Amino acid sequence: MQRFVPDHIFIEASVAQSILTRTVIDRCPGVPSTVIPDSRELIRAYRTTCGGGFEKRSLLLCKNRGRFLEPCPGTRGYICCGYMVLTPGIGCPLDCSYCVLQAYLNNPFITLYANQDDLFNALRSVPQGIVRIGTGEFMDSLALDHLTDFSRTALPIVARIPGLVLELKTKTDNIENLLDLDHLGSYIISWSLNTESIAVSEEKGAATIQERIRAARRVVACGYRVGFHFDPLIVYPDCEVEYQNVISLLEENIPPDAVAWISIGSLRFMPHLKKTALQRFPSTAIFSGEFVPGLDGKMRYLQEIRLELYRILITMLRQWSREVLIYFCMENDFVWQRTLGCTPGRQCSTLKEMLDQKTRRC
Ligand code: SF4
Repeated sequence: MQRFVPDHIFIEASVAQSILTRTVIDRCPGVPSTVIPDSRELIRAYRTTCGGGFEKRSLLLCKNRGRFLEPCPGTRGYICCGYMVLTPGIGCPLDCSYCVLQAYLNNPFITLYANQDDLFNALRSVPQGIVRIGTGEFMDSLALDHLTDFSRTALPIVARIPGLVLELKTKTDNIENLLDLDHLGSYIISWSLNTESIAVSEEKGAATIQERIRAARRVVACGYRVGFHFDPLIVYPDCEVEYQNVISLLEENIPPDAVAWISIGSLRFMPHLKKTALQRFPSTAIFSGEFVPGLDGKMRYLQEIRLELYRILITMLRQWSREVLIYFCMENDFVWQRTLGCTPGRQCSTLKEMLDQKTRRC
Protein backbone atom coordinates (compact mmCIF):
# COMPACT_ATOMS: atom_id res chain seq x y z
CA MET A 1 0.00 0.00 0.00
CA GLN A 2 1.02 3.59 -0.52
CA ARG A 3 2.65 5.40 2.40
CA PHE A 4 0.94 8.64 3.38
CA VAL A 5 2.67 11.91 2.57
CA PRO A 6 0.74 15.08 3.43
CA ASP A 7 0.09 17.89 0.96
CA HIS A 8 0.66 20.48 3.66
CA ILE A 9 2.05 20.61 7.19
CA PHE A 10 0.84 23.07 9.83
CA ILE A 11 3.22 23.52 12.73
CA GLU A 12 2.27 25.18 15.99
CA ALA A 13 5.05 27.61 16.94
CA SER A 14 5.51 26.08 20.42
CA VAL A 15 6.62 22.74 18.92
CA ALA A 16 8.44 24.05 15.84
CA GLN A 17 11.81 22.89 17.17
CA SER A 18 10.71 19.58 18.68
CA ILE A 19 12.39 16.36 17.64
CA LEU A 20 9.15 15.00 16.18
CA THR A 21 8.57 18.11 14.08
CA ARG A 22 12.10 17.98 12.72
CA THR A 23 11.76 14.26 11.94
CA VAL A 24 8.47 14.76 10.07
CA ILE A 25 9.78 17.74 8.08
CA ASP A 26 12.86 15.73 7.19
CA ARG A 27 10.71 12.83 5.90
CA CYS A 28 8.51 15.11 3.78
CA PRO A 29 10.93 16.94 1.50
CA GLY A 30 9.19 19.47 -0.73
CA VAL A 31 5.96 19.48 1.30
CA PRO A 32 5.01 23.09 2.09
CA SER A 33 4.61 24.00 5.74
CA THR A 34 3.14 26.91 7.68
CA VAL A 35 4.00 27.88 11.24
CA ILE A 36 0.90 28.95 13.14
CA PRO A 37 0.64 30.60 16.56
CA ASP A 38 -2.12 28.39 17.97
CA SER A 39 -3.61 25.18 16.55
CA ARG A 40 -6.99 25.95 18.16
CA GLU A 41 -7.35 29.04 15.97
CA LEU A 42 -6.58 27.02 12.85
CA ILE A 43 -9.14 24.35 13.78
CA ARG A 44 -11.79 26.98 14.57
CA ALA A 45 -11.18 28.78 11.28
CA TYR A 46 -11.37 25.54 9.28
CA ARG A 47 -14.59 24.48 10.93
CA THR A 48 -16.16 27.87 10.28
CA THR A 49 -15.40 27.69 6.57
CA CYS A 50 -15.71 23.93 5.93
CA GLY A 51 -18.39 22.86 8.42
CA GLY A 52 -17.96 19.31 9.65
CA GLY A 53 -15.57 18.14 6.91
CA PHE A 54 -12.21 16.44 7.39
CA GLU A 55 -8.87 17.60 6.12
CA LYS A 56 -7.18 14.29 5.47
CA ARG A 57 -4.39 15.64 3.27
CA SER A 58 -2.94 18.02 5.88
CA LEU A 59 -0.87 17.20 8.90
CA LEU A 60 -0.98 19.31 12.03
CA LEU A 61 1.89 19.19 14.51
CA CYS A 62 0.93 20.77 17.80
CA LYS A 63 1.02 20.53 21.54
CA ASN A 64 -1.35 18.20 23.36
CA ARG A 65 -3.08 20.26 26.02
CA GLY A 66 -4.97 17.26 27.38
CA ARG A 67 -3.92 13.90 28.79
CA PHE A 68 -1.73 11.44 26.93
CA LEU A 69 -2.72 8.34 28.85
CA GLU A 70 -6.20 7.35 29.95
CA PRO A 71 -8.18 4.21 30.69
CA CYS A 72 -10.15 2.97 27.70
CA PRO A 73 -13.61 4.46 28.13
CA GLY A 74 -15.20 1.03 27.57
CA THR A 75 -18.91 1.18 27.15
CA ARG A 76 -21.74 1.01 29.66
CA GLY A 77 -23.31 -2.44 30.15
CA TYR A 78 -20.68 -4.42 28.22
CA ILE A 79 -17.65 -6.40 29.36
CA CYS A 80 -14.50 -4.33 29.15
CA CYS A 81 -10.86 -5.47 29.00
CA GLY A 82 -9.14 -2.89 31.22
CA TYR A 83 -6.93 -1.36 28.55
CA MET A 84 -5.08 1.97 28.75
CA VAL A 85 -5.04 4.26 25.75
CA LEU A 86 -1.93 6.23 24.82
CA THR A 87 -2.58 9.11 22.43
CA PRO A 88 0.36 10.23 20.27
CA GLY A 89 -2.12 12.02 18.00
CA ILE A 90 -5.64 11.93 16.62
CA GLY A 91 -7.03 11.45 13.14
CA CYS A 92 -6.01 9.08 10.43
CA PRO A 93 -4.96 9.18 6.78
CA LEU A 94 -7.11 6.11 6.10
CA ASP A 95 -10.82 6.66 5.65
CA CYS A 96 -13.15 3.92 6.84
CA SER A 97 -16.85 4.52 6.29
CA TYR A 98 -17.68 3.22 9.78
CA CYS A 99 -14.89 5.10 11.61
CA VAL A 100 -16.18 6.32 14.97
CA LEU A 101 -13.88 9.31 14.83
CA GLN A 102 -16.23 10.90 12.29
CA ALA A 103 -18.86 11.18 15.01
CA TYR A 104 -16.96 13.00 17.68
CA LEU A 105 -13.69 14.56 16.51
CA ASN A 106 -13.94 18.30 16.28
CA ASN A 107 -10.43 18.58 14.90
CA PRO A 108 -10.51 17.87 11.15
CA PHE A 109 -6.72 17.55 10.72
CA ILE A 110 -4.51 14.51 11.04
CA THR A 111 -2.80 15.63 14.19
CA LEU A 112 0.42 14.56 15.86
CA TYR A 113 1.30 15.79 19.32
CA ALA A 114 4.86 17.00 19.13
CA ASN A 115 5.42 17.57 22.86
CA GLN A 116 6.62 14.00 23.00
CA ASP A 117 8.56 14.45 26.27
CA ASP A 118 5.20 14.84 27.99
CA LEU A 119 3.90 11.73 26.26
CA PHE A 120 6.91 9.68 27.31
CA ASN A 121 6.65 11.00 30.88
CA ALA A 122 3.02 9.86 30.94
CA LEU A 123 4.16 6.45 29.72
CA ARG A 124 6.84 6.27 32.44
CA SER A 125 4.21 6.95 35.08
CA VAL A 126 1.81 4.23 33.96
CA PRO A 127 -0.09 3.02 37.06
CA GLN A 128 1.10 -0.21 38.67
CA GLY A 129 -0.77 -3.28 37.53
CA ILE A 130 -1.38 -1.92 34.03
CA VAL A 131 0.21 -4.21 31.50
CA ARG A 132 -1.60 -3.43 28.25
CA ILE A 133 -1.54 -0.10 26.51
CA GLY A 134 -2.55 0.69 22.96
CA THR A 135 -2.29 3.64 20.61
CA GLY A 136 -4.99 2.59 18.16
CA GLU A 137 -7.99 4.32 19.73
CA PHE A 138 -7.87 7.70 17.97
CA MET A 139 -5.60 6.84 15.05
CA ASP A 140 -4.07 3.90 13.23
CA SER A 141 -0.95 2.95 15.24
CA LEU A 142 1.36 2.49 12.24
CA ALA A 143 -0.11 4.60 9.39
CA LEU A 144 2.30 7.46 10.13
CA ASP A 145 5.20 5.46 11.55
CA HIS A 146 7.36 6.06 8.45
CA LEU A 147 7.09 9.83 9.21
CA THR A 148 7.36 9.73 13.00
CA ASP A 149 9.47 6.71 13.97
CA PHE A 150 7.17 6.42 16.98
CA SER A 151 7.65 2.65 17.23
CA ARG A 152 11.41 3.13 17.43
CA THR A 153 11.43 6.04 19.89
CA ALA A 154 8.87 4.57 22.28
CA LEU A 155 10.52 1.16 22.53
CA PRO A 156 13.29 1.93 25.07
CA ILE A 157 10.70 3.47 27.40
CA VAL A 158 8.20 0.64 27.10
CA ALA A 159 10.91 -1.99 27.41
CA ARG A 160 12.12 -0.48 30.69
CA ILE A 161 8.73 -0.78 32.42
CA PRO A 162 8.46 -4.29 33.89
CA GLY A 163 5.71 -6.33 32.29
CA LEU A 164 4.31 -3.53 30.13
CA VAL A 165 3.28 -4.34 26.57
CA LEU A 166 2.25 -1.81 23.94
CA GLU A 167 -0.21 -3.01 21.32
CA LEU A 168 0.21 -1.33 17.95
CA LYS A 169 -3.03 -1.82 16.03
CA THR A 170 -3.18 -1.18 12.30
CA LYS A 171 -4.84 -1.70 8.94
CA THR A 172 -1.58 -1.01 7.12
CA ASP A 173 1.51 -2.98 6.18
CA ASN A 174 3.76 -0.19 7.39
CA ILE A 175 6.05 -2.44 9.42
CA GLU A 176 9.52 -1.57 8.11
CA ASN A 177 10.51 0.23 11.33
CA LEU A 178 9.73 -2.87 13.36
CA LEU A 179 11.78 -5.39 11.49
CA ASP A 180 15.19 -4.71 13.03
CA LEU A 181 14.06 -3.67 16.51
CA ASP A 182 15.35 -5.50 19.57
CA HIS A 183 11.80 -5.51 20.92
CA LEU A 184 12.17 -8.09 23.73
CA GLY A 185 8.47 -8.89 23.52
CA SER A 186 7.48 -5.33 24.47
CA TYR A 187 5.17 -4.89 21.49
CA ILE A 188 2.21 -6.85 20.22
CA ILE A 189 1.44 -5.91 16.63
CA SER A 190 -2.16 -6.38 15.73
CA TRP A 191 -4.28 -6.09 12.63
CA SER A 192 -7.92 -5.25 12.21
CA LEU A 193 -9.34 -7.74 9.75
CA ASN A 194 -12.46 -7.86 7.70
CA THR A 195 -13.44 -9.59 4.50
CA GLU A 196 -11.56 -8.56 1.37
CA SER A 197 -14.72 -6.95 -0.10
CA ILE A 198 -15.34 -4.87 3.02
CA ALA A 199 -11.67 -3.85 3.04
CA VAL A 200 -11.99 -2.67 -0.57
CA SER A 201 -15.36 -0.94 -0.27
CA GLU A 202 -15.29 0.44 3.29
CA GLU A 203 -11.63 0.88 4.31
CA LYS A 204 -10.30 3.46 1.90
CA GLY A 205 -6.51 3.75 1.85
CA ALA A 206 -5.96 0.62 3.97
CA ALA A 207 -3.82 -2.34 2.95
CA THR A 208 -5.62 -5.30 1.42
CA ILE A 209 -6.31 -8.22 3.75
CA GLN A 210 -3.60 -10.22 1.98
CA GLU A 211 -1.11 -7.40 2.54
CA ARG A 212 -2.04 -7.18 6.23
CA ILE A 213 -1.58 -10.91 6.79
CA ARG A 214 1.65 -10.90 4.81
CA ALA A 215 2.90 -8.08 7.05
CA ALA A 216 1.86 -10.08 10.12
CA ARG A 217 3.82 -13.02 8.84
CA ARG A 218 6.93 -10.85 8.45
CA VAL A 219 6.75 -9.50 12.00
CA VAL A 220 6.15 -13.00 13.37
CA ALA A 221 9.38 -14.02 11.63
CA CYS A 222 11.06 -11.26 13.68
CA GLY A 223 9.78 -12.75 16.93
CA TYR A 224 6.79 -10.48 17.57
CA ARG A 225 3.53 -11.75 18.93
CA VAL A 226 0.55 -10.63 16.92
CA GLY A 227 -3.14 -10.03 17.48
CA PHE A 228 -6.11 -9.92 15.14
CA HIS A 229 -9.30 -7.96 15.56
CA PHE A 230 -12.30 -9.07 13.51
CA ASP A 231 -14.01 -5.80 14.20
CA PRO A 232 -16.37 -4.51 12.98
CA LEU A 233 -17.93 -7.66 11.58
CA ILE A 234 -20.33 -6.58 8.86
CA VAL A 235 -23.22 -8.75 7.74
CA TYR A 236 -24.02 -9.15 4.04
CA PRO A 237 -25.15 -12.09 1.89
CA ASP A 238 -22.60 -14.94 1.92
CA CYS A 239 -20.18 -12.96 4.07
CA GLU A 240 -19.28 -16.18 5.93
CA VAL A 241 -17.60 -17.53 2.78
CA GLU A 242 -15.35 -14.50 2.71
CA TYR A 243 -14.65 -14.66 6.44
CA GLN A 244 -13.59 -18.27 5.90
CA ASN A 245 -11.17 -17.10 3.19
CA VAL A 246 -9.55 -14.70 5.66
CA ILE A 247 -9.20 -17.41 8.29
CA SER A 248 -7.72 -19.76 5.69
CA LEU A 249 -5.15 -17.08 4.90
CA LEU A 250 -4.30 -16.85 8.59
CA GLU A 251 -3.94 -20.61 8.72
CA GLU A 252 -1.53 -20.58 5.79
CA ASN A 253 0.62 -17.76 7.13
CA ILE A 254 0.50 -17.44 10.91
CA PRO A 255 1.46 -20.09 13.49
CA PRO A 256 -1.25 -20.02 16.19
CA ASP A 257 1.32 -19.91 18.99
CA ALA A 258 2.45 -16.47 17.75
CA VAL A 259 -1.07 -15.12 18.29
CA ALA A 260 -1.62 -13.31 21.59
CA TRP A 261 -5.36 -12.85 21.03
CA ILE A 262 -8.17 -12.53 18.56
CA SER A 263 -11.04 -10.19 19.27
CA ILE A 264 -14.44 -10.16 17.67
CA GLY A 265 -16.91 -7.31 17.57
CA SER A 266 -19.79 -6.41 15.31
CA LEU A 267 -20.61 -3.08 13.68
CA ARG A 268 -21.83 -0.54 16.23
CA PHE A 269 -22.26 3.17 15.95
CA MET A 270 -23.79 6.17 17.64
CA PRO A 271 -27.01 7.09 15.80
CA HIS A 272 -25.63 10.44 14.60
CA LEU A 273 -22.62 8.74 12.97
CA LYS A 274 -24.88 7.30 10.27
CA LYS A 275 -25.80 10.73 8.90
CA THR A 276 -22.18 11.92 8.74
CA ALA A 277 -21.00 8.64 7.23
CA LEU A 278 -23.70 8.62 4.56
CA GLN A 279 -22.82 12.19 3.58
CA ARG A 280 -19.16 11.23 3.27
CA PHE A 281 -19.73 7.76 1.75
CA PRO A 282 -23.03 7.92 -0.16
CA SER A 283 -22.57 4.51 -1.77
CA THR A 284 -21.97 2.54 1.42
CA ALA A 285 -24.61 -0.07 2.24
CA ILE A 286 -23.39 -1.05 5.69
CA PHE A 287 -25.93 1.05 7.58
CA SER A 288 -28.91 -0.41 5.77
CA GLY A 289 -29.18 -3.54 7.98
CA GLU A 290 -31.55 -3.88 10.91
CA PHE A 291 -30.07 -2.26 14.02
CA VAL A 292 -31.27 -1.79 17.58
CA PRO A 293 -29.91 0.55 20.25
CA GLY A 294 -27.69 -1.17 22.83
CA LEU A 295 -27.30 -0.38 26.54
CA ASP A 296 -24.75 2.29 25.66
CA GLY A 297 -26.99 3.98 23.04
CA LYS A 298 -24.95 2.59 20.13
CA MET A 299 -26.78 0.88 17.31
CA ARG A 300 -26.01 -2.82 16.90
CA TYR A 301 -27.27 -5.74 14.85
CA LEU A 302 -30.08 -7.69 16.54
CA GLN A 303 -28.70 -10.09 19.12
CA GLU A 304 -29.77 -13.19 17.11
CA ILE A 305 -27.84 -11.90 14.09
CA ARG A 306 -24.75 -11.16 16.17
CA LEU A 307 -24.94 -14.57 17.84
CA GLU A 308 -25.20 -16.38 14.53
CA LEU A 309 -22.26 -14.57 13.00
CA TYR A 310 -20.12 -15.00 16.12
CA ARG A 311 -20.85 -18.73 16.26
CA ILE A 312 -19.84 -19.16 12.63
CA LEU A 313 -16.64 -17.19 13.08
CA ILE A 314 -15.67 -18.91 16.33
CA THR A 315 -16.21 -22.34 14.75
CA MET A 316 -13.94 -21.37 11.85
CA LEU A 317 -11.30 -19.97 14.21
CA ARG A 318 -11.43 -23.06 16.42
CA GLN A 319 -10.83 -25.26 13.39
CA TRP A 320 -7.60 -23.31 12.93
CA SER A 321 -6.60 -23.39 16.60
CA ARG A 322 -8.25 -24.71 19.74
CA GLU A 323 -5.88 -22.78 22.00
CA VAL A 324 -5.87 -19.23 20.71
CA LEU A 325 -7.57 -16.74 23.04
CA ILE A 326 -10.77 -15.39 21.49
CA TYR A 327 -12.62 -12.57 23.20
CA PHE A 328 -15.37 -10.10 22.45
CA CYS A 329 -14.92 -6.41 22.28
CA MET A 330 -17.92 -4.82 24.00
CA GLU A 331 -20.37 -7.67 24.26
CA ASN A 332 -22.70 -8.71 27.04
CA ASP A 333 -22.71 -11.73 29.41
CA PHE A 334 -25.40 -13.51 27.42
CA VAL A 335 -23.44 -13.40 24.17
CA TRP A 336 -20.26 -14.62 25.91
CA GLN A 337 -22.12 -17.48 27.52
CA ARG A 338 -23.93 -18.54 24.36
CA THR A 339 -20.91 -18.50 22.08
CA LEU A 340 -17.76 -19.00 24.14
CA GLY A 341 -19.44 -20.90 26.98
CA CYS A 342 -18.29 -18.68 29.84
CA THR A 343 -18.90 -15.28 31.32
CA PRO A 344 -15.68 -13.48 32.30
CA GLY A 345 -15.41 -12.92 36.02
CA ARG A 346 -17.91 -15.71 36.79
CA GLN A 347 -17.07 -19.19 35.50
CA CYS A 348 -13.67 -17.99 34.26
CA SER A 349 -11.12 -15.20 34.89
CA THR A 350 -12.04 -11.62 34.20
CA LEU A 351 -11.34 -10.44 30.68
CA LYS A 352 -8.52 -8.25 31.98
CA GLU A 353 -6.92 -11.27 33.69
CA MET A 354 -7.23 -13.41 30.55
CA LEU A 355 -5.57 -10.77 28.39
CA ASP A 356 -2.96 -9.75 30.95
CA GLN A 357 -1.88 -13.37 31.16
CA LYS A 358 -1.38 -13.49 27.40
CA THR A 359 0.59 -10.28 27.55
CA ARG A 360 3.50 -11.68 29.53
CA ARG A 361 6.75 -10.91 27.79
CA CYS A 362 8.70 -13.82 26.43
S1 SF4 B 1 -8.06 2.94 10.34
FE1 SF4 B 1 -9.21 3.23 12.24
S2 SF4 B 1 -8.85 5.37 12.78
FE2 SF4 B 1 -8.29 5.15 10.63
S3 SF4 B 1 -10.13 5.70 9.47
FE3 SF4 B 1 -10.16 3.46 9.77
S4 SF4 B 1 -11.36 3.10 11.63
FE4 SF4 B 1 -10.77 5.29 11.60
